[in-house]
Amino acid sequence: MVPAQSGLIVQLIGRTEFTAPQDVPFETDAVGGQALAEFAGRSIYSSWERAVPATASNSGFLLHLLQVGHLSVLEHSSATFYLRGLSRSVTHEFLRHRHFSYSELSPRAEPQDVVEPAAIGADPVLHQRFQTAVAQARTAYEDLLDGLQQAGTSRPDGSLARKQARQAARAVLPLAQSTAIVVTGNYRAWRHFIGMRATEAADVELRMLAVALLAELQREAPHVFADFRISTLADGTSTAASPYVGDG
Ligand SMILES: Cc1cc2nc3c(=O)[nH]c(=O)nc-3n(C[C@H](O)[C@H](O)[C@H](O)COP(=O)(O)OP(=O)(O)OC[C@H]3O[C@@H](n4cnc5c(N)ncnc54)[C@H](O)[C@@H]3O)c2cc1C
Repeated sequence: MVPAQSGLIVQLIGRTEFTAPQDVPFETDAVGGQALAEFAGRSIYSSWERAVPATASNSGFLLHLLQVGHLSVLEHSSATFYLRGLSRSVTHEFLRHRHFSYSELSPRAEPQDVVEPAAIGADPVLHQRFQTAVAQARTAYEDLLDGLQQAGTSRPDGSLARKQARQAARAVLPLAQSTAIVVTGNYRAWRHFIGMRATEAADVELRMLAVALLAELQREAPHVFADFRISTLADGTSTAASPYVGDG
């Protein structure tokens, strides 16, 4: 589990397992998703013998795939994360990436704490304005909820009526509300996401999340993600880039 920034928790909860078929002469110096990606790549020509020294190891073979852009092989292996303490603003942008599978805390659940943007939190005056705005939104939510629940008290489907009341009242809650989400993606999708969202142009909260995910993926599958270099910008935040990431 990685506490990546104030309140954000990035936790790897699922990974690929690989079992080599017993009737194929395949052995490698890696396990899990990295081994599976290599197996898939070698299966294309049944090239189980390791004739070329540069690609004889798992790291050498996968680096070659990254260099030539043979990325479909990376789609066999996946990683699942449980992310907490990120804003709905960020998950809204995350969900634009169509090759992931998602399960997110229902927006009809009780209101959550907020994730204050770092740029606002760094300034005491702006921080105070932010806190005031959040408190006002919460008061408006409670008022609306009261009104909606009173209007729905005579309905027999109490549980559904409460959900529907929360679903209408939430319209005034801020995008900064904290949420939690399970995200599953294959290695290729993760590389594409990090390539787009760990850049300086990306939203800062999403960029910090992308860099934190990269750090976890580099631990999990270094031969697939080590080409990304993490660096620090003048404002102290991080960014990451790879020489091999294009359109994927
Ligand atoms: C800095 C930044 C600013 C942004 N600003 C805005 C904004 O103002 N408004 C806005 O709406 N969005 C914005 N976006 C979101 C962006 O336009 C994409 O929707 C999002 O990043 C998903 O990435 P993707 O298009 O690569 O698709 P992904 O879903 O991540 O798919 C990965 C790749 O698969 C391929 N692919 C997926 N689906 C298809 C398809 N249907 N047809 C063909 N190829 C496909 C493409 O090669 C694609 O690049 C922004 C993104 C960034 C990084």
